[in-house]
This record gives sequence, structure tokens and C-alpha cells, in this order.
Amino acid sequence: MAERRAIDGASVWRPYTQMKTAPPALNVARTEGCRIILEDGRELIDGIASWWTACHGYNHPHIRRAVARQLERMPHVMFGGLTHEPAERLASELAALLPGDLDHVFFTESGSVSVEVALKMSAQCWQNRGHPEKRRFVSFSGAYHGDTFATMALSDPEEGIHARFRGLIPQSLVAELPVDAERRASFSALLEERRDEIAGVVIEPLVQCAGGFRFHDAETLRWLRSACDQANVHLIFDEIAVGFGRLGPLFACMGAEVVPDIVTLSKALTAGTLPLAATVARRAVFEAFWDDDPGRALMHGPTFMANPMACAAALASLELFRTEPVADRVAAIASHLGRRLPALAAHPAVADVRIRGALGVVELKAPPPLHGLRARFIEHGAWIRPLLRCVYLMPAFTISESELDHLIAAIERSLPD
Ligand SMILES: *Cc1c(COP(=O)(O)O)cnc(C)c1O
Repeated sequence: MAERRAIDGASVWRPYTQMKTAPPALNVARTEGCRIILEDGRELIDGIASWWTACHGYNHPHIRRAVARQLERMPHVMFGGLTHEPAERLASELAALLPGDLDHVFFTESGSVSVEVALKMSAQCWQNRGHPEKRRFVSFSGAYHGDTFATMALSDPEEGIHARFRGLIPQSLVAELPVDAERRASFSALLEERRDEIAGVVIEPLVQCAGGFRFHDAETLRWLRSACDQANVHLIFDEIAVGFGRLGPLFACMGAEVVPDIVTLSKALTAGTLPLAATVARRAVFEAFWDDDPGRALMHGPTFMANPMACAAALASLELFRTEPVADRVAAIASHLGRRLPALAAHPAVADVRIRGALGVVELKAPPPLHGLRARFIEHGAWIRPLLRCVYLMPAFTISESELDHLIAAIERSLPD
């Protein structure tokens, strides 16, 4: 009977959660700055900025005001046949900020869908140009590109969080990251051999995040750009996790000085206030759709695309990148993590410590007992969610040094023996 009642009591089905054994979700009353305030009065310092979104901290007054103004005027209107100033302005600002001729912005409402749109753009671009057989994608081991079917097919088939769906979905061609001569040779061979069926290569530039926080360098991306040019396939950057300053430069492609053919953006786009994503294509991709034939149009259009309040939030967030010292804050977080985290490498449970921009990763030798570790973080007033074998910090850029110290101390005290 007890179990029956528990099942009946659960109307909300939570994400990535074994509903039977997981501890109850914490009930949040409000958020402020880098803090999550629970209904029972406890306060947690957020070490992961609400799944990497709240880059300026929670409830930033500038973003709140922009969303409130837009709410008064028009919370939403359909985007088919209609447009509005927030979407037009946001598209042109993103185009101006992104390098090269990444100028054509398609809005959606989630990261996964923005990657799906990138795949559709790439495959239909080749189709429109008379190469319908170019429709497969190459991705990398350790990758994570989303939870929908096509994006699961791009994510790591063995180690990623979608391993259980293997066989249910058509797998993309999964390669090793071309970080050394041997892997570059086999990657080039793959592209050369299958260039007639490959539409594009999809990568999370510089850091593969949800697949285990593996780093590679800008030189690898530059090599990949020329390999893709040579084989005549698109290079698609999934900047959903690292875009908007996480690693220092506003976009990873800028830091790496590589212009991909298509880039996807989402998580920090509205600074954690409303769902929004963007798929941005270069001129040559867009031109393949520019035709008198309606059948050559991009066939996609989510009901809530380009939601005006979300666009207003994104515009306000971009303004904060101009008016607040975001790059200095990222550098300060990076150097503070650099001073404090490496000491943890001496801990017997720790395999590696690595830092890039405002991202600090403590990789453990074995997957930790998740519930136990999460509970310990909460006891220490920290909201930190280990992922696979990694305990990581990806805080708001506005976090104070003492809040950051609090999070690091929570990790030090919570690591398994
Ligand atoms: C989170 C994430 C996604 C998926 O975004 P959703 O909004 O959760 O659909 C895709 N790619 C990367 C790199 C991500 O970090």
C-alpha cells in the first residue's frame, strides 16, 4: 500500500530521475543572485547556474525589466507570416556578434531542437544543390547534443547518457576527436571515403560538456575546418553549452578563429530566464534555400518560435555583456579556480582536475554514489550536480569569491573516500 500511495502521489515526472528511489526534489521558493532559496528557508549557492543558463545570476533587474515591458506589450504571437522587433533586433545582433558571414538566424525553443534544425539545414542544403545522398552526419565520442532522436544519434553511443537507446536510433558516424596525427589520419580517411554521403560534422567546440567535460584545443578545430573544406562537408558547432562567454570569448568559434557553417546557441542565450535557441547559418547555406521554388524552403517552424519575451530577455542579456565586465569576471573565476581546485588532484578519489574559463572540473576515478554525494553538497549549502564521473562548477559570472570558495569547500568536504 505504501508503494501504491507513492506512485499515486507523483504527478510530475522528473528529468533523468528514477522516481521510485530518488530523494524528493527540493522545493524552491525563489532565486536571487547565485542563490536558490528553498521553501523551508534553506539557501543553496548555485554552482551550475541552473543547467548552465543563468550566466548573469538569477533575477537580474535589467533582464527582469525587459521581460516585464515585453509582457505588457505582447507576450507571444505566432511567427509564421508575422514578425516583431525583438526577434528582428536579436537576429541582427547575433549576426553582428558572430564571426564571418554567420548571418541567418532561425529561432527555436530548445537546444536539442536547434541542433535538429542545424541537421535539417545541412542535409536540405545539399539536397537543394542536387546532392540528396549527402545526408549522414559525423559526431565524436564523448559528445552530447541533446535528448531528441536525431540528437541522441549524434551523442556518444557507448558512454553517454543515451547508451540505453542504442539500436533504437540510426547512429551517426562516430569518430575520435582528431587531436593527434594518428586520429587525424583516420578521420581524413573517413571523410574521404564517405564524402558523397556525409552532409556535415558536428562538434561541441573546445569542451564536450555533458558527455564528460573533455577538453580539446583551438588547433584541433582549425584542422577540422580545413578537413571539412577539403571533403566538401559542413562544419557545425554546437555552442549551446559554451556560447556566451563561458570560456572567455563570447563564442568559442571566435576564440578559435574558426567560422563554422552552422552554429547552435541556447543555454545562456536568455541568461536563464526563458526558453530560446538559435541556429545560425552562413550565407552559402542560406543561399541554397533562396529560390523561386517553395519546395526548397526550410521546412521547419515550431509553434512558439522567437517568443517575444524570450527575445527581449536575450537582448537584455547581450546588453549586459556590453555594459558589465563579463570577460574580467570570467578571467577572475578562472584564476580563482586555478588557485584552489588543483590541490584536489591529490585526493585519492580524484583522477584529474581541469579548468577552462569559468568551468572547473574534478574528474573522479569511479562514478560516485550520486544520491549520497548530492545530499552532502546540499548539507554544505551547495547546489552541485555531478555528471557521470565529473564534479564540476559552472557558476554564474557574477558569483563572488566567497561564494566560489564556499562551493570549492563543499567539494573538498564531500568527495568520497
Ligand atoms: C544542453 C545541450 C543541448 C540540449 O539542449 P536542450 O535545451 O536541453 O535541448 C545540446 N547540446 C549541448 C552541447 C548541450 O549542452
